[in-house]
Amino acid sequence: FWQHFNDEMRERFNEVAYNAWFKNTKPISYNKGTHELKIAVQNPVAKGYWEKNLSSQLIQSAYGYVNIEILPTFHVADDSKSPERMVTPKPKTARPLHTSKAPDHEDFMRDLQLNDKYTFDNFVQGEGNKLAAGAALAVADSPGSFYNPLFIFGGVGLGKTHLMQAIGHQMLAERPNSKVVYIQSETFVNDFINSIKNKTQDQFREKYRTCDLLLVDDIQFFAKKEGIQEEFFHTFETLYNDQKQIVMTSDRLPTEIPDLSERLVSRFAWGLQVEITPPDLETRIAILRKKAEAEHLTIDDNTLDYIASQVDTNIRELEGALVKVQAHATIEKEDINVNLAREALADLKLVQKDRGLQISKIQEVVANYFQTSTTELKGKRRVRQIVVPRQIAMYLSRELTDASLPKIGQEFGGKDHTTVMHAYQKISRQIKTDSDIKTAVFDLKQMLDR
Ligand code: ADP
Ligand code: MG
Repeated sequence: FWQHFNDEMRERFNEVAYNAWFKNTKPISYNKGTHELKIAVQNPVAKGYWEKNLSSQLIQSAYGYVNIEILPTFHVADDSKSPERMVTPKPKTARPLHTSKAPDHEDFMRDLQLNDKYTFDNFVQGEGNKLAAGAALAVADSPGSFYNPLFIFGGVGLGKTHLMQAIGHQMLAERPNSKVVYIQSETFVNDFINSIKNKTQDQFREKYRTCDLLLVDDIQFFAKKEGIQEEFFHTFETLYNDQKQIVMTSDRLPTEIPDLSERLVSRFAWGLQVEITPPDLETRIAILRKKAEAEHLTIDDNTLDYIASQVDTNIRELEGALVKVQAHATIEKEDINVNLAREALADLKLVQKDRGLQISKIQEVVANYFQTSTTELKGKRRVRQIVVPRQIAMYLSRELTDASLPKIGQEFGGKDHTTVMHAYQKISRQIKTDSDIKTAVFDLKQMLDR
């Protein structure tokens, strides 16, 4: 039955999610008297996820297959010796020659540029980010032990940099002598190029290969840069083998970064890849409330609610909206209320509407092309004549608009973002193997271009 359940779930989740929740998860014992089924899970985050989201399905599934009402309990396995961890100890002599002095702690602290505000305390947790936040906390608590590397991905302005720097702050608070390096991937690229020019490669390497925590932000900029990827590969290997923690962020999955070398793609999947998705209304209100408090603004709940409802994806834009309202109030010398917020944000609305239009346009064109209807595309019918057009429409929505996965799901009759991800991955694969799909996508893209 366990195998059946796994197969069922493999269908439902995308690969990343499946690996995160099912890898190293297995039943360890079953008590025939109490029906308790003990299950070992990989780590505390997985435990939480199973308890909250998967246990009821497990119970149902067990009932369906073996007609027993089981009582699952979840236990974190001692995975400090995980078989996944490939430690290839290097002979000491293989290390780079120490021609330059290793940078000391002061050097690290001088270079470290963390934003004071990007702490865990200032980070509001909600549906879209709580897994990432949980993983980040776990990493800050015990760096280098699980989730190495931690790979956080998601759209612009959703808190990736904030969360990543929070790990740095926390680690320094708990272990003041640890060496933390935070770097934008573009800076890594520039530093590397300069170090070649100035013949200071040894210093460059020492800096990155001797830290306890390496934070590399927006790693998608390594796309198509072979030399950098080679350099980063060695940095990664050295740190990983020394059990130092690596955290990366990106706007997409490693497999979606153009020309990222296979060995990096596979290494980036050794730990945990976790997505941040746009915040729901409740979370957006909580974030606004926190910001307003920090700025000592008095804003009533209705107004907070209104502002939060106007910006539905990007948290940076949400903050921008608050600033706009505040500025408007200052200029008009009025108190902040719903009417004033409405005036201040009038132009925002147009932008948001535009984005909605695009997806509906795609649905219309796709429905026409396949001689079905947009209602079917947004519906639930699972026959092939509908499923394929629906998946293509989702694929095109992902490719041609900047809407997030959850947003796309919403536009398709409130489907889950994993469904959209699954459709996207499936069509991406089929374009390479199925000439009908390839032609359809090509035609549709041309039509939508016009
Ligand atoms: P990203 O790196 O994903 O583009 P940032 O980390 O720069 O996004 O976040 C954009 C802004 O939104 C920052 O000012 C950040 O502090 C704020 N922010 C994002 N997520 C949260 C959150 N969950 N709670 C509070 N502020 C947040
Ligand atoms: Mg960022």
